Amino acid sequence: MRRPSVWKTAFGLKRAVVEDVCVENDERLVVSVRPHSRELDRCPYCRRRCPGYDLGEGRRRWRTLDVGTMLAYLEADAPRVSCKRHGVVVAAVPWARHDSAFTRQFEDQVAWLTVQASKTAVSELMRIAWRTVGWICRRVSDEALATRDLCSGLTRIGVDEISIRKGQRYLTVVVDHDTGRLVWAAPGRDRRTVEKFLDLLGKQ
Ligand SMILES: [Zn+2]
Repeated sequence: MRRPSVWKTAFGLKRAVVEDVCVENDERLVVSVRPHSRELDRCPYCRRRCPGYDLGEGRRRWRTLDVGTMLAYLEADAPRVSCKRHGVVVAAVPWARHDSAFTRQFEDQVAWLTVQASKTAVSELMRIAWRTVGWICRRVSDEALATRDLCSGLTRIGVDEISIRKGQRYLTVVVDHDTGRLVWAAPGRDRRTVEKFLDLLGKQ
């Protein structure tokens, strides 16, 4: 392998070292990586450094963005650590969210595409199962929502209903009138649905 830094840049790898790159069966690119030493043995929930527990289930792969027409994977050890607060867990890796078989870049792209296109189109383009698209979107949005209060700074809102699946089902959506940003959405279009949002907003 020449120039590991090229692969590191190509895959947007930060806080990690590329050890090797190979092509498997002419159809898969596999990049062996390891986290930087200061990223090792961290709990995926609290990010604290923890004592090692065991080697877990050995080497593991994370699907990452394709290279040309080839599927691409990062491969690394996936040891377990023993966190005082969270128990025995697979150590965090800088390139993927916890409990995911995909890299952050891959998941972020799937989530972005799902906002722009149908779930079926995303599943075909990204070569993943239809259900996987939903799981990925859930992980990406949970992470984003954990650090953001969508109701903060709201002064004027708009509430509307949209039909999905040819009018069979409805969603109530709330947008920030000043920015056009989606604030909240939930299945249903009755008073109770709107009240759920008002409860979330609180009295103040
Ligand atoms: Zn922890």
